[in-house]
Amino acid sequence: MTRPIIAEISSSALRHNLQVARNHAPQARIMAAVKANAYGHDVRVCAPVLTAAGVDAFAVASLEEAETLQALALNKPICLLGGPFTAEEVLLATERAYWLVIHEDRQLAWLESQIPHRALQIFIKVDTGMHRLGFAPERLGEVFAKLQSYPHWQVLGLMSHLARSDCPQDPFNDQQIAVFERMVKAYSGRTLGQHSLANSGAVLSLPSTHQYWVRPGLMMYGLSPFTGKNGVDLGLQPVLSWQSEIVATRHLQAGDWLGYGATWQAAEACRVGVVAAGYGDGYPRQLGSGAAIRVAGQETRTLARVSMDMLFVDITHIQADIGSKVTLMGGEGPTLESLAQQLDTIPYEMGCRIQMRVPRSLR
Ligand code: PLP
Repeated sequence: MTRPIIAEISSSALRHNLQVARNHAPQARIMAAVKANAYGHDVRVCAPVLTAAGVDAFAVASLEEAETLQALALNKPICLLGGPFTAEEVLLATERAYWLVIHEDRQLAWLESQIPHRALQIFIKVDTGMHRLGFAPERLGEVFAKLQSYPHWQVLGLMSHLARSDCPQDPFNDQQIAVFERMVKAYSGRTLGQHSLANSGAVLSLPSTHQYWVRPGLMMYGLSPFTGKNGVDLGLQPVLSWQSEIVATRHLQAGDWLGYGATWQAAEACRVGVVAAGYGDGYPRQLGSGAAIRVAGQETRTLARVSMDMLFVDITHIQADIGSKVTLMGGEGPTLESLAQQLDTIPYEMGCRIQMRVPRSLR
């Protein structure tokens, strides 16, 4: 008997969200960000769907993630957003024809020492103001001068990342865009013109950032980067629905205690469902008492402390029993955005929390 816990991934929602990105940036090519195991949605489930729906490339955070994707044989370009982390990675990356994003001198030195005569396609990352990765704009001349000595290396384009696209009205975006445009103008002739700036927030609301490549991640999964809005408000469809079942029920009398720490006491007689999901699956322990949850299609709340493998729900006033379906988040349950807000975090983190012991399955 299998533990009744699953994260359903909607293929139609993935396809829809890709189309939404296309509608917003019709001239651009779409490099879907599937790093961190497709934001916890399972890259092995999501990437084939996105490929069949016509995505143009994938972006990942590491060589390991690229290898996982490569093993799926989807035949789409794979871009390593953080570039190589070691000299050895340069060799494997070029064997596989991964696109590298070069953001610092150490990486350039690895390219020079490891693969001076090998074909290679790279982006040059420019720091337009976020100050995370990238060459300072004033150093680009020097970088391009160095690259010129290696005729087998092609620079696809410049890449940069926006710090505030979750708040499109923020003038910080304008500053970054202005720097990027200035660099594109100055160096386009030395690249293949395949520049890339936009992530989800920018795809959705900063059209001037829609360069040759856009790199949406969060919106692919139907989630909103904007505080106060959820994916549905933006015309997206949430991809993930995390479900479990009630595996035991209890009748408590007034005064009975429930769960670890005996921290929750029944004020009156009540009925409790024990659900096969816990913090060991990635359900946040902070959602233990009073969080929204859906049981057999009815809204109710969690009770007491979340255990590693189980949690409690209040089924006093709803029709539910052993075997009743529980939607923990997404789908017909609370949105990932609403739970993120309750946890004082961002929707990005929600899917990433779901552990791999929770099987993902395509619906
Ligand atoms: N590009 C880079 C460099 C990133 O780091 C990320 C995600 O953090 C993305 C694109 C995708 O961003 P988003 O999920 O906001 O669309």
